[in-house]
Amino acid sequence: MQVLVTDRPALGPKPKLGYTPSLIDRVAVSRDDEAALKKFSEDPRAGVYVTGNENVVLKLLGEKCDPLFTPAEARALGTSGKSVFLGLADGAPRFGAAIAPDAIEKLQARGDLKITDLRSVAVQGLVAEHHLPPLAESKALLGWHARHRFCPNCGAATHVVQAGWRRDCPVCHAQHFPRTDPVVIMLAISGERCVLGRSRRFAPTMWSCLAGFAEPGESIEEAVRREVLEEAGIACGRVTYFASQPWPFPSSIMIGCHAQALSEDLTVDRDELEDARWFSRDECAAMLARQHPQGLTTPPPVAIAHHIIRSFVEEGADVIG
Ligand SMILES: [Zn+2]
Repeated sequence: MQVLVTDRPALGPKPKLGYTPSLIDRVAVSRDDEAALKKFSEDPRAGVYVTGNENVVLKLLGEKCDPLFTPAEARALGTSGKSVFLGLADGAPRFGAAIAPDAIEKLQARGDLKITDLRSVAVQGLVAEHHLPPLAESKALLGWHARHRFCPNCGAATHVVQAGWRRDCPVCHAQHFPRTDPVVIMLAISGERCVLGRSRRFAPTMWSCLAGFAEPGESIEEAVRREVLEEAGIACGRVTYFASQPWPFPSSIMIGCHAQALSEDLTVDRDELEDARWFSRDECAAMLARQHPQGLTTPPPVAIAHHIIRSFVEEGADVIG
């Protein structure tokens, strides 16, 4: 049932989208320059982000945490294997290093560290915002290494080259590059209403944009139309790009869009979604402002869904262009 919300609350200043913008200069040209990499690793300003699967290791420092370790500190924590070179932050070299689950377990007891997952780090604002993009870069890249140790072409063990940006196969000589998986995330709009859905894994009050992986051979617009049709039974016409966001869970890029709904009858795919329904612009505003009469919410500002919904609240159907 749609809830009548009559007073649209003010939304306040626009929050920042999580994991963007990155201040890292990736200096890709240095990735195969051994002399430059050696200089970077010995630079007194060098810093290492330490992650293990979903977890990030942080230094406890009062209210905020510091996610940067010196290369020696990172080794002492028990990081495994070679680090990857993320780039330069205002000239200071930044690396990422993985830590194994048993090493993480040993660190849990230490009072000077905080170990938590990257989603919590972002949502709770545990580190200064400029650290989130390189943490996302590091987590996604190291996660790719963990899942791609063997050549998908011939099955031989591959080795890391290009400071972590490629894996080469010594047997069939195939070169493998880190993957980013495109996910379309969209708001279907009809006049003053839009479609939001609920996954079973969401918090009980949360509703969000529909989303799904773009498939091989598909344009972004086609993926948007297919996903809305599959999940909500609604055909869409015009699709417009809104913004994108790296989403390192494990290695996606979220491509945010608005779509013009051509029909209003919903048919929810109950295998994919717990529910989906139409929401008015005013109801969305109340959800964004955490003032919904039934306590319904949107995802937090760290997620692009929040911003896609907010732009519809602010601009109405004009947001489709
Ligand atoms: Zn091979």
